[in-house]
Amino acid sequence: MLNKNQIYKTEITGLTSEGNGVCHIDSMAVFVPNTAVGDILNVRIVKVLKKYAFGIVENIITPSSDRITSDCPISLKCGGCMFRHISYEAELNYKHQRVCDAITRIGGIDGSLVGEIIPSDRITAYRNKAQLPIAYDKNGNITVGFFAQRSHRVISVDNCLLHSEAFNPIIDCFTDFANEYKLTPYDEKSHSGLLRHLYMRHAMETDEIMVCIVINGKKLPHENELCERLIAVENRIKTIVININCDKTNVITGKECRTIFGSGYITDKLCGLSFRISPLSFYQVNRSQAEKLYTIARDFAELKPDETLLDLYCGTGTIGLTMADSVKRLYGVEIIPQAIEDAKINAEINNIKNAEFFCGDASLAAEKLAQQGIKADCIIIDPPRKGCDSTLINTISEKFSPPRVIYISCDPATLARDLKIFNELGYSAFKVIPVDLFPRTGHVETCVLLGRKIVNDKNVEYMHVDYELEDAEYLRGIKGSATYAEIKKWIKEQYNVSVSSLYIAQCKDECGFEKRENFNTGAEGHRVPNCPEEKKKLILEAFKHFKMI
Ligand code: SAH
Repeated sequence: MLNKNQIYKTEITGLTSEGNGVCHIDSMAVFVPNTAVGDILNVRIVKVLKKYAFGIVENIITPSSDRITSDCPISLKCGGCMFRHISYEAELNYKHQRVCDAITRIGGIDGSLVGEIIPSDRITAYRNKAQLPIAYDKNGNITVGFFAQRSHRVISVDNCLLHSEAFNPIIDCFTDFANEYKLTPYDEKSHSGLLRHLYMRHAMETDEIMVCIVINGKKLPHENELCERLIAVENRIKTIVININCDKTNVITGKECRTIFGSGYITDKLCGLSFRISPLSFYQVNRSQAEKLYTIARDFAELKPDETLLDLYCGTGTIGLTMADSVKRLYGVEIIPQAIEDAKINAEINNIKNAEFFCGDASLAAEKLAQQGIKADCIIIDPPRKGCDSTLINTISEKFSPPRVIYISCDPATLARDLKIFNELGYSAFKVIPVDLFPRTGHVETCVLLGRKIVNDKNVEYMHVDYELEDAEYLRGIKGSATYAEIKKWIKEQYNVSVSSLYIAQCKDECGFEKRENFNTGAEGHRVPNCPEEKKKLILEAFKHFKMI
């Protein structure tokens, strides 16, 4: 039996999904924060429960080879980053393993389907969004920062390494203003005080910035002066908004926004399209990684001009709209009204005429669309962390029954749970690609391609799924060549001819490119067509264009 305050020498052998190190002492699992796999250390036990215990580092005897010196002075206190003390390579390995473990243990799926994780080009200053709580510091001055780990105590932040550097002068300017006018920070316990959160967004491609002040009240004193002061320190600010949140809740924003400067939204560019983003709409926090994620989803989708695409949990329509040019019809569903407003405008500003967006719960809306007789060839689902509703999975498999489903997830555990349900309902996972959208934090995004099983008289066949892991290799920066999607796009633009990945793959083989490991030729007996000569010519032209041959 472990005793509180006792010190034990041990080795960290794993990490939990919250990023705590795990060691075993007297056959009991002990969770130790801020450690790395391979650390040999003395652990002080701080809490003993029936089946496990918690400890803290007393001293490190031999550090793990994964360890690096943290580049942030507050990383041990702040709850923002989980991995500032280990190398990015070790972090990627951990995230890849986490996805494998979840889909194997919870989903019952073969872990070898998981392709290598796509790393982020930037591991600092990649976040385009910050929502910072406001509080008094120990001297009674207003401060803006992050909540400490597992608490609502605010740790001041001067120079967060995760978010856009543009936010730092805005934080200083806002803090000075709040202190000069002796404004009060919101106090959760008494539900009093005005200032709740300072919320900023930076559209990194267009360089437009939004500042939103979340208040427990209707009006912020000296609003106009605040606008003048903020714009004076940062002229890239395009809009300033007051968000009213008078509810006793830990949800950050309220439903009502009032614009006090500019248009109330900013615009960013993603995959070559423009997207208008309002304060209440979701937008991926790591723009350049989101582009890679959407490219994988697009490659998985293998869309054809006569097909219909359903984009569920669509936010401002980003995923579907970037694919709208490949399909006949696009339908998007999202629960937040402002996001749907944005999605409709985004279709308009990008001159996309084949898209329709609906506001509502994904399960209910999908059911309704099915009742209206809408058919889907491909369905993309991108739910929040809690995953999707099992009724939705039922509706997808039974009412729509599309050949392909693409599941984008920000939580491997709920993803694995849902993949298991999909499997029971006739959909198998073919490819699983983790994408690191959130370097230095414990979060990891995953994109999964599911195909429908078709049962015929003799055997179970799978829909032909036409995706190459080589595309993902390109995204990982391993190959200097073009993706299948790029080759297809180029041929379409140059010659107005569509070619399949299968044909590109056959031409690659003929040119003596590395043998494809993951090419799916379907079940035994499935006939694989050969690339016609005229298409081969065009594909070889494309290889030349992309300097692959
Ligand atoms: N696909 C979008 C948004 C993904 S985030 C993008 O890549 O930008 C998940 C989205 O699901 C959020 O916009 C959230 O508002 C929405 N959402 C949450 N619960 C929902 C539900 N029950 N029905 C429909 N949308 C929901």
